[in-house]
Amino acid sequence: MDFRLTDEQEALRESVRDFAREAVAPVIAEHYEKHTFPYEVVRQMGKMGLFGLPFPEEHGGMGGDYFALCLALEELARVDSSVAITLEAAVSLGVMPIFRFGTAEQKARWLPKLVSGEALAGFGLTEPGTGSDAGGTQTRAVLDGDEWVINGSKAFITNSGTDITALVTVTAVTGIRPDGAKELSTIIVPSGTPGFTVAPGYSKVGWNASDTHELTFDDCRVPAANLLGERGRGFAQFLRILDEGRIAIAALAVGLAQGCVDESLKYAKERQAFGQPIGNYQAIQFKIADMELKAHTARLAYYDAAARMLAGEPFKRQAAIAKLHASTIAVDNAREATQIHGGYGFMNEYPVARFWRDAKILEIGEGTSEVQRMIIARDLGL
Ligand SMILES: Cc1cc2nc3c(=O)[nH]c(=O)nc-3n(C[C@H](O)[C@H](O)[C@H](O)COP(=O)(O)OP(=O)(O)OC[C@H]3O[C@@H](n4cnc5c(N)ncnc54)[C@H](O)[C@@H]3O)c2cc1C
Repeated sequence: MDFRLTDEQEALRESVRDFAREAVAPVIAEHYEKHTFPYEVVRQMGKMGLFGLPFPEEHGGMGGDYFALCLALEELARVDSSVAITLEAAVSLGVMPIFRFGTAEQKARWLPKLVSGEALAGFGLTEPGTGSDAGGTQTRAVLDGDEWVINGSKAFITNSGTDITALVTVTAVTGIRPDGAKELSTIIVPSGTPGFTVAPGYSKVGWNASDTHELTFDDCRVPAANLLGERGRGFAQFLRILDEGRIAIAALAVGLAQGCVDESLKYAKERQAFGQPIGNYQAIQFKIADMELKAHTARLAYYDAAARMLAGEPFKRQAAIAKLHASTIAVDNAREATQIHGGYGFMNEYPVARFWRDAKILEIGEGTSEVQRMIIARDLGL
């Protein structure tokens, strides 16, 4: 057993860390404040090959694996989570469904521009009326000749409304099974298709420089060939995508938790109270030690889940554990980092204010903490 990174993995981590510090940190606060999408940062990430990290070279990727993506996400989130979630959603929710389940034609048409980061794709599972209970999907798609006619709406869809969004994959009810259950399928809807409307961005608590929209489909027609994979496999497809995605979200959460350690360490050495740096007080030292402990153990949890996934072993429970633990400790660390910064921690000019606002969604997105506990309990046989 060896949890140390290879030279290649370490080099990737360092290059993303340098990029985050040099290209993201100086510009992100303004994007966050103004709720603007960081197109230039995304363009540079594309040039670095980050969107192609886990994809083979034949599709324009970097020939790496899912763990490489996780390392990049951790280092980005150490500086900013809006940029990290843009990459996470683009790769694990946007490109992966097409890469895993798409036909040769779909891959040839969409992968080159998605893998290069030139275009983004969204993943439309959640609806205004249902999130955790995806079986409650109301959006319908009916085959009319050689076209799907889609009606319904999707809520909170990341990367769905940028200037470079090329498509959204949408889960929809395409029939009823013999046992009375809904038949769910996934369909590719290109941006700009008539009947596909993207609402203005939400006003969010955090992730303010990431792109999130409600989508509506009103007699929206796409070719029958836009079905992703087999008809009726929608449920199995999104379960696979979400299982993997949880490891990526765990990595992102670890990055945020580690960013809280970085900022707190720096501040504890600078800030004076009662004639000495606050870092001299054991109360502050113990807070920072506990934060480091949490980031470290959550990192081991996602490394373990990723290792199992890459070995082709079952990893559902470990991915849920990693996501649950990492998101919980990210919120803990954001709270303690804010506390260490005192009143300045409540000021948006300090990165910890962003960490605080960005941490909570990690306990909700890609399966809430309650859903992770359900998955773990079920896997234990309950
Ligand atoms: C910024 C942002 C970006 C997002 N991006 C995307 C995206 O790109 N694509 C996408 O499809 N979705 C996206 N989502 C949606 C996200 O995945 C859902 O919000 C999440 O899965 C929870 O669903 P919900 O909001 O409907 O909550 P609900 O499912 O309504 O849950 C409400 C509460 O009830 C609890 N609960 C529900 N069922 C049970 C149960 N059986 N037992 C115990 N407790 C239960 C939940 O844990 C939660 O606490 C995004 C959300 C946000 C906020």
